[in-house]
Amino acid sequence: MIAKFAAVAVIYFSAVAASAQAFVVPTPEILSQFLENQPLHGQPIRIQPFRINTLQASSSQAESTPTDAAPTKTMAAQATQPAAAPVVSSAAQANPSAAQTYEIFAIRYASIPDFPVSALIAGADPARKFNIAMTIWLIRGNGRNILVDSGFYRPQFFKQFKIDAFIKPSEAISQPGIMPAGQPALKPEDITDVVITHMHWDHADGMDLFPNARIWLQKDEYTYYTGPAWQEKGNHGGIDSDDVLATVKLNLAGRVRLINGDAQEILPGITCYIGGKHTFQSQFVGVNTKAGIVILASDNMYLYENLEKHVPIAQTLDADSNLRAQDRMKQLAASPRLIVPGHDPLVFEKFSKISATIVRIE
Ligand SMILES: [Zn+2]
Repeated sequence: MIAKFAAVAVIYFSAVAASAQAFVVPTPEILSQFLENQPLHGQPIRIQPFRINTLQASSSQAESTPTDAAPTKTMAAQATQPAAAPVVSSAAQANPSAAQTYEIFAIRYASIPDFPVSALIAGADPARKFNIAMTIWLIRGNGRNILVDSGFYRPQFFKQFKIDAFIKPSEAISQPGIMPAGQPALKPEDITDVVITHMHWDHADGMDLFPNARIWLQKDEYTYYTGPAWQEKGNHGGIDSDDVLATVKLNLAGRVRLINGDAQEILPGITCYIGGKHTFQSQFVGVNTKAGIVILASDNMYLYENLEKHVPIAQTLDADSNLRAQDRMKQLAASPRLIVPGHDPLVFEKFSKISATIVRIE
């Protein structure tokens, strides 16, 4: 039993190390080498100066009127066209973001025990390990059931990682307490939208479990991981080829919506922001709720410790950009406590419990 566990642990930590090696780019030298060697659209990659800088200069406006940060709302307008879209009142149409609020649930669908904190927090003691939460976030309201990230389910991940307490993401959404009493449980076909924060296996793999959902993904993330990432000197650590194929198939089926850059309000009251290079073009999500703007950081902020100690995530292509993204989350969120990290089990202690693995973010 111990030997078996040791073998699993070796595979698991090798995978973590390989992934971390692929993504930890702590020195400017390695980063510039990476950038100069990565072709995109035939041009050398340059990290564009995010509009974060501009927004930081006017942080007070960003906090009080967050949609100021959304220069275009065309995606939200486009997204409300399909028949499945909610009926929007004329007042809401005049200023949809102000009228639309949602409720949000964090759903822990698995755990990975003995995970090294140093793979999450840059510079952490390698001896520190803990049981990380694997989470999807369900946003409900205005006739929509929106998932932020889709978890994983394909068999290869259960061979590569030690996974505990797994519930398939398409079944995790059906658990009691999510829908109001007397209403039927959510089914996979009830999910209208899935926002993928980044293409890592534990966030993107489940996107094809929801047959009616539109899949929202940053355009540059899609372009890079369906193409240049797999060329010589490309970087696809943490990306599973099955997930790339699934994404392309969904796009061919007309179900993918590519988000073009920062501060895009994709649905009324739901805005996607560029996330500070956790992957090629990771994003985080701002959601209007009755408590104000909630930020679903996903892996652009792995743990509360990142924010509290002001340290970048361990897996980023640009640590400075990641810190700027975290600073910006503080400006955008109604309160720092409404910034929800990607893998922190404390989320399930800090918010109102529906069960041991589901909380309401409020
Ligand atoms: Zn993750």
